[in-house]
Amino acid sequence: MRGQMMDQPLLISALLKHAETYHGDTEIVSRTVEGPIHRYTYREAARRSRQLANALAGLGVKHGDAVGTLAWNGYRHYEIYFAVSGAGAICHTVNPRLFAEQISYIINHGEDQVLMFDLSFLPQVEQIAAELTTVRHFVLMTDKANMPRETSIDNLLCYEDLVNSHSDEYEWPEFDENTASSLCYTSGTTGNPKGVLYSHRSTVLHAFASSLPDSLDISAQACVMPVVPMFHVNGWGLPYSCTMNGAKLVLPGPKMDGVNLYELIESENVTMTAGVPTVWMMLLQHCQRNHLKIHGLKRVVIGGSAAPESMIDQLAEHGTEVRQLWGMTELSPCGTTSTPKFKHIGCDTPTLRQLQTKQGRPIYGVGIRIVDDGGKPLPHDGVAFGNLQVRGPWVLSRYFKRELDNSHTDDGWFNTGDVVTIDRDGYMKITDRTKDVIKSGGEWISSIELENILVGHPAVAEAAAIGVVHPKWDERPLMAVVLKPGASATRDELIGYYEGKIAKWWTPDDVVFLEELPHTATGKLQKMKLREMFKDYQWK
Ligand code: AMP
Repeated sequence: MRGQMMDQPLLISALLKHAETYHGDTEIVSRTVEGPIHRYTYREAARRSRQLANALAGLGVKHGDAVGTLAWNGYRHYEIYFAVSGAGAICHTVNPRLFAEQISYIINHGEDQVLMFDLSFLPQVEQIAAELTTVRHFVLMTDKANMPRETSIDNLLCYEDLVNSHSDEYEWPEFDENTASSLCYTSGTTGNPKGVLYSHRSTVLHAFASSLPDSLDISAQACVMPVVPMFHVNGWGLPYSCTMNGAKLVLPGPKMDGVNLYELIESENVTMTAGVPTVWMMLLQHCQRNHLKIHGLKRVVIGGSAAPESMIDQLAEHGTEVRQLWGMTELSPCGTTSTPKFKHIGCDTPTLRQLQTKQGRPIYGVGIRIVDDGGKPLPHDGVAFGNLQVRGPWVLSRYFKRELDNSHTDDGWFNTGDVVTIDRDGYMKITDRTKDVIKSGGEWISSIELENILVGHPAVAEAAAIGVVHPKWDERPLMAVVLKPGASATRDELIGYYEGKIAKWWTPDDVVFLEELPHTATGKLQKMKLREMFKDYQWK
């Protein structure tokens, strides 16, 4: 027998309608690309999103079409999130930190019909516009006063003109909750970035779950500043969860440095913020240098890379709790958080730190397990380590426009590429990664790409790239190199060899020369062993 409750679809537009109705005067504050602080309310954001939805229809954007964005965290980006998805189209956030060829590939693969971008990215878009085969309209996210006098982009539209020239009368359409809502690409080990296509259902369920007290704990009493960019997995879903709960939103714009973050935390009374460790290090350095105290910031959610214990200690001195979040683009992104349980209340600081430095226990809705290389499940005893697999309603079932590959098991689990232990209480701890990538300041660098380039150098016999802990960037690439017999090359020569071949920030920071690299009996390079050898490596 079926239950008899209403079958109302979970739609993103309903989040905004709710905020407009019950949190209409709650503020959304943005540091704009143009400079000044912009402030308005959920009521005004909802009104402008409806205007934008009308404007999109005017541009010919239909149900299922993709609209790309290259934008920082700001109110216009927020409006695009809701207008595009709310209208039944796909909000495709593109990471502007990637190289031009990757950005073009992503926009073409996503088949974006319209591209909306912040002023900061005008030169980048001008460079690639001719290669964007599906984009019919380019919209600069600014007002008339800031439109460029000259640009190589034909018929460049002005966002404010577009919004203001349309009515705010718009009925958000109702459709199946499994309709695609947004798209985000993640850089893999090899080849082109892969798209993760979220649905309205997965996004709303993720907003519910990530708002829970033991997840990110979002409420109408919170003032939340997502420092994690809105082009990284929908800003960890915060634009949706904050809207669902009516939390005050502070969007820090293009300036993610210690000065701007500190200023916003203090002036806007931010109670919760979220981002990768690199930004908190900049904030803490700014406070230390200038003898500043952080007031009122109850919690920092640290994810994307491991939260160092020293950072947790330093934030505790400001009265700020660190909550570690583990997630992935493929998970929308929230998977686990490192919150204590009832039995941990009153525990001493070392015990608490032990919990906080773990990646955490699953949020309800996310199933986790570890398996060995043969796929056999391993015990959750805090000792056995293996490949982490996950499943759940906001975990991807396959990559966008790709065949099923070994990213999923036959019984429906997603392979994360993280190697972890899980203890009896469910706390997961990352010990290594099987995916061959390095994460620097929250962005991926492909080790294989670095290796392929270096083995092209005439003196190099074999090269391996590993990520080594770095005080500012969490991890930076170190090259372990074996030279050909009789050949010679210096560190500077090899580093110089990368020039012009990759983005500057991908360039390895150092090279170590070895007699041989560790291999298995079958000749496979043992990265784990190599990472172990250089785990205490000191950057010069
Ligand atoms: P992304 O898809 O770019 O968000 O990257 C996801 C990957 O980042 C995960 O599979 C982990 O390897 C890493 N990661 C995410 N959160 C954490 C964390 N709290 N600690 C350590 N690594 C993390």
